[in-house]
Amino acid sequence: MNDSKIKTYSIKTFGCQANIADSNTISGVLEALGLEEAEKIIGSNDDETFYNTAISTDVLIMNTCSVRQKSEDKVYGLGKMLKLAEKDARKKPFIVMAGCMVGSVTGERQRYAFEVLKKKTPWVDVYINPSQIMNIPEILLKNSLLSDWAVQKFDSAKVLSKQDNPTHAFVNISYGCDNFCTFCVVPYSRGKEVSRSENDILKEIRHFAGRGIKEITLCGQNVNSWGLSMTKKMEIRTGSDQKIPFTSLLKKIHNINEIEKIGFISSNPFDFTNDLVETLKLPKISRYLHIAVQSGNNTVLKNMNRRHTVEDFINLIDRIKGAKPNIELGTDIIVGFPGETREQFLDTVRLFEKINFNVAYISMYSPRKGTPAERFFKDDVPLKEKKWRHAYLTSVWKKYKNGI
Ligand code: SF4
Repeated sequence: MNDSKIKTYSIKTFGCQANIADSNTISGVLEALGLEEAEKIIGSNDDETFYNTAISTDVLIMNTCSVRQKSEDKVYGLGKMLKLAEKDARKKPFIVMAGCMVGSVTGERQRYAFEVLKKKTPWVDVYINPSQIMNIPEILLKNSLLSDWAVQKFDSAKVLSKQDNPTHAFVNISYGCDNFCTFCVVPYSRGKEVSRSENDILKEIRHFAGRGIKEITLCGQNVNSWGLSMTKKMEIRTGSDQKIPFTSLLKKIHNINEIEKIGFISSNPFDFTNDLVETLKLPKISRYLHIAVQSGNNTVLKNMNRRHTVEDFINLIDRIKGAKPNIELGTDIIVGFPGETREQFLDTVRLFEKINFNVAYISMYSPRKGTPAERFFKDDVPLKEKKWRHAYLTSVWKKYKNGI
């Protein structure tokens, strides 16, 4: 029985699969404490649904993303709506801000001062960064929202993330990133790369398998380097013959009878070993592979601090297609990175004409506060040119994606 002051929760998730997986873990924590997910109260649009649901729940988690300014601006906008709820004297939930906006201003690698975020979000009650999810019970207790009894019987080791899909689950295998691509906030917002133990991962997957889950997607900012020490992962290069722990993890999951399909996101070309290429041949490994290339020009890649060249990438894709001929490829691209000339951009176009990506997330570069690209490079590609490059590359991608 839940004898605490709070009975219901709601989570608003922004951003990538890592955030979705974290939100599932937060749901697992809150449900282990006896809370129930609040029913969605549908409005005429998404914002109205968010607002209606938020004001009828006890605890609202805003699991934020920092990758794009647009995503942060959305959080500020929804926060303003929540302030209206206070003015209306209607019920304002206890608001916990989680995710990368908090990670960016706390921990060892801060991008800017915590005070700046606090000033912009006066409607937030408590902030937790992505490594503090298991502290939620204590935080709620400190704010007199939970009973001692509920917290005492909480056992973080027994928390299982909640999965809405009855046949598919996302499983985080690592957190954070040590690669420091110059445009990216993740090494700051999610901190150092930390791998979960093999034991914990397999235990969670076996539990899901027992509940009817047939498909698993392993998540991490850079899954290839799972289980590697910092020195080792920096040594590994595209096409290296070294064995990596990630392939052994994939094989162990492959041996779980009930699991029929295994995918993983994200992979980077710079540490995609031959061992991993071979492992793709296993029948349960998904034929969709997401592998971020970011640019088709070597100078731009260097400025992005990517540890691969365009030639490495093309060669890798050839070997992947050799190992798994029916592979479907997805990638991430940034257009208009500082200093990218029209000719350098056209190298990316040529790469798209060559590779035929099935999925492409194409973004226009926007400087993110505190990143090396923002600090050391001038955002010198005009917005109009960025928009043109975005539209042009999108049209090329559409034309070539089915191997035309
Ligand atoms: S590999 Fe690069 S782009 Fe990916 S999360 Fe790490 S720093 Fe960001």
